[in-house]
Amino acid sequence: MALIVQKYGGTSVGSPDRIKNVARRVAKFKAQGHDLVIVVSAMSGETNRLIALAKEIQAQPDPRELDVIVSTGEQVTIGLLAMALKEQGVDAVSYTGAQVKILTDSAHTKARIQHIDDANMRADLTAGKVVIVAGFQGVDAQGNITTLGRGGSDTSGVALAAALKADECQIYTDVDGVYTTDPRVVPEARKLKTITFEEMLELASLGSKILQIRSVEFAGKYNVKLRVLSSFQEEGEGTLITFEEDSTVEKPVISGIAFNRDEARINVIGVPDKPGIAYQILGPVADANIDVDMIIQNVGQDGTTDFSFTVPKGEYPRALKVLEEVKKHVGAREVSGDDKICKVSIVGVGMRSHVGVASTMFRTLAEEGINIQMISTSEIKISVVVDEKYLELAVRVLHKAFGLEQAV
Ligand code: ADP
Ligand code: ASP
Ligand code: MG
Repeated sequence: MALIVQKYGGTSVGSPDRIKNVARRVAKFKAQGHDLVIVVSAMSGETNRLIALAKEIQAQPDPRELDVIVSTGEQVTIGLLAMALKEQGVDAVSYTGAQVKILTDSAHTKARIQHIDDANMRADLTAGKVVIVAGFQGVDAQGNITTLGRGGSDTSGVALAAALKADECQIYTDVDGVYTTDPRVVPEARKLKTITFEEMLELASLGSKILQIRSVEFAGKYNVKLRVLSSFQEEGEGTLITFEEDSTVEKPVISGIAFNRDEARINVIGVPDKPGIAYQILGPVADANIDVDMIIQNVGQDGTTDFSFTVPKGEYPRALKVLEEVKKHVGAREVSGDDKICKVSIVGVGMRSHVGVASTMFRTLAEEGINIQMISTSEIKISVVVDEKYLELAVRVLHKAFGLEQAV
């Protein structure tokens, strides 16, 4: 008998029938004698619908009120799942984030979990109940409802598993594990039996939406046993996120490919090449609370240089406005940009011990006539920015070039 936290995503609870299906699955685990805490997302499409609704009233929704609105999606699902379990003769009780007391900071729409009160949940588990918790939401010290950012139910699941010292956290979704890349883009993508925590962290941070980055961070920090599985298959071991590399099998050089459509590029051209210039350009961007990702500064010529960086697509218009001011201030020649770009990244711990990975990547893209606009590397990843119309093509040819479809 074990204590298991299971998280079911939006598609898995997308209709009354699917919620009944989740209840059947939960009832099966319960019948095996396990203690269960179930975290659910809003029904698929619901969070998008609520955000669109809010924007009909206020183009830039007030963050506190937006959290009040979007958190309702998950509240509906917990009630429906509790009812479905009762219908199947299983005692269950639902809690919102605030009812559990998932305490977060006050950063509305991207709050961070600070503490989880496990008293109510433990009492219910001892009484033999299945505990159902709304994902994606918490409450701050002043009692305001907060949410954890898109995909945040993954983080709720892992954080609850950490707080309860659960034996395992199972993320049930609409694919049967973590693949070498998004199987919707590359049908030949291969399911991985295991992936190292470090690689999963990179893939998540580079845009793979299979797990929210913070859920992986939590798993790492608290040593949570984390597994991704399908809610639509009865059997299957999914993908286990491991903390140690398995030295008995030879690992491929590249483990996976991630991509992110949600970036835009900004160029500040002809800025004086002198100390402090990066700060003068990026300081105001940071002050406007806009995240900056890739940054490139060219080697200066004739006393001036060019500066490029990427920001989230949604922040592109605001970032351009900030930069128009900066342009006057620093005396730049031109500010331009492009929001029709994407970032494609290859990830693998094997890169540490292999040379030629970057050149294979660049040659593969060149052979398809795909122009690389920006490059950034770290020990276990290489990212490139390319025109967004080449996203699928780039991911497909790289997948093939690194032999990711072949079993290892
Ligand atoms: P949920 O609603 O269950 O949280 P998400 O839509 O957030 O599900 O995440 C699952 C989706 O992630 C899959 O349907 C798939 O399209 C996408 N995905 C992206 N990268 C990968 C990957 N490397 N392996 C598996 N799925 C991936
Ligand atoms: N419902 C939220 C979203 O769509 C949280 C989640 O599903 O993880 O982003
Ligand atoms: Mg998700």
